[in-house]
Amino acid sequence: MTRVLQVSAELYPLLKTGGLADVAGALPAALAAAGAEPRLLVPGFPALRESLSKECAVAPVALPWSEGRAALLRGRLPGFELPVYVLDAPGLFDRPGNPYADANGMAYADNHRRFALLGLAAARLAEGVDGSWRPDIVHAHDWHAGLACAHVAASRARRRTEARTVFTVHNLAYQGLFPADYFCDLGLPPQHYAVEGLEFYGQVSFMKAGLHFADAITTVSPSYAREIQTPEQGCGLDGLLRHRAGVLHGILNGVDYGIWSPAHDRSIAQAYDVDRPEGKAACKATLQRECGLDVKPGAPLFGIVSRLTEQKGLPLVLEALNDLIDAGGQLVILGAGDARLEAAFVDAVARHPGQIARRTGMDEGLAHRIYAGSDVVLVPSRFEPCGLTQLYGLSYGALPLVHRVGGLRDTVVDTTLEDLAAGTATGFVFNAFTADAYRRALRRAFALWSRQEFWARVRGTAMRGHFGWDGAARRYVAVYEGLTSG
Ligand code: ADP
Repeated sequence: MTRVLQVSAELYPLLKTGGLADVAGALPAALAAAGAEPRLLVPGFPALRESLSKECAVAPVALPWSEGRAALLRGRLPGFELPVYVLDAPGLFDRPGNPYADANGMAYADNHRRFALLGLAAARLAEGVDGSWRPDIVHAHDWHAGLACAHVAASRARRRTEARTVFTVHNLAYQGLFPADYFCDLGLPPQHYAVEGLEFYGQVSFMKAGLHFADAITTVSPSYAREIQTPEQGCGLDGLLRHRAGVLHGILNGVDYGIWSPAHDRSIAQAYDVDRPEGKAACKATLQRECGLDVKPGAPLFGIVSRLTEQKGLPLVLEALNDLIDAGGQLVILGAGDARLEAAFVDAVARHPGQIARRTGMDEGLAHRIYAGSDVVLVPSRFEPCGLTQLYGLSYGALPLVHRVGGLRDTVVDTTLEDLAAGTATGFVFNAFTADAYRRALRRAFALWSRQEFWARVRGTAMRGHFGWDGAARRYVAVYEGLTSG
């Protein structure tokens, strides 16, 4: 059985800023079911450190700089069957705010140290500091864990480990870039600061460390795996990704149906499923009441659960807001982020009370109620590595309206006449990233809404779809076995 150490900065349900947490939370159980032996390594952020039980000290971790201390602990986290390693370094991780930034949204000035140490700790585990368990594979997620691949490579060069590394790109746009003179804090051999290493146009790139040093690279959908090899979406790393195309795999994220299913979701007003969808109407009325929208069963309700960033295509939603409202639709948006986007939605609510509602902050329960109560989820992202919200929309019968890009392209089938006739349509997909193309998709949604019998049919197809973690986990295990069998 392949022993695999999952290294992630977020972990649902304990610490989440986005989809990475959902993946890190669901993947271990799926990997275990697929025949691997996973364990987790996470930084000792308060939400994780304080949840650790049955803990024991594994080993101190020597810091590449002078002040402070760090240690690896092993214990249990609620909801996880497997042992978890927590990197305890109070001076670095015991802070308010989210994992990456302070309460004002400013990135912590020592993020390079915080996440270099995470990589270093992964390499120590690969070297066998826990005498009872040593990974065959270190699987690092996103730039925060990218240095794990560099540190394991350095350990391998010194013959201290045989472990192989897998690096998963959840979003190439967030790269972990730091000034070159921070390199001396990373604890890496000097030759790693090179074009054939983690140097990126005169800076240190944690993302590039992952892409360069990993033995295999994965990303979270087949389409995104192709797109990041192009200059348009390669964020300057497309050349390297083309060079490594032979070890790059697109593995679509899954849905944890134990959490994201309207049949047994305790945070929604009434359970429902594809054979008994009546409860969805009660969820919609409850959501309309909760958010101060007019309680109108006949108004198609569009929902958005999203980080408010330009990536998510929200300017298109704003540009075509009048189209949505004039056609009789309603909109509820849950999200926080970019101040200008927030202000624009505040303004929209003021102009259309009863028709547009907005909530801010992270609210897991409300996110569930929005998927359950909405008729459509809007995900018009400019780019989207995988996207989970459209998958949750499918599960809850909220038809996704999406831009044909990345994982959105791989998971939603447009309601064209032929796909409607074939019973394969599940949502609305637009090609060009323009307000005009988005508007046409909106019009398709309203046209289908006016034919409720067809709407119900498409919703049934959407809800019957299966995007479970089982298939993805089997593919990850195949990648691991490809690296360890050689
Ligand atoms: P990304 O990781 O780029 O943010 P994904 O679609 O992969 O996008 O995942 C987003 C995850 O974060 C989903 O689980 C979604 O429900 C959740 N989410 C986003 N914003 C909020 C919010 N304000 N409150 C609760 N959950 C949110």
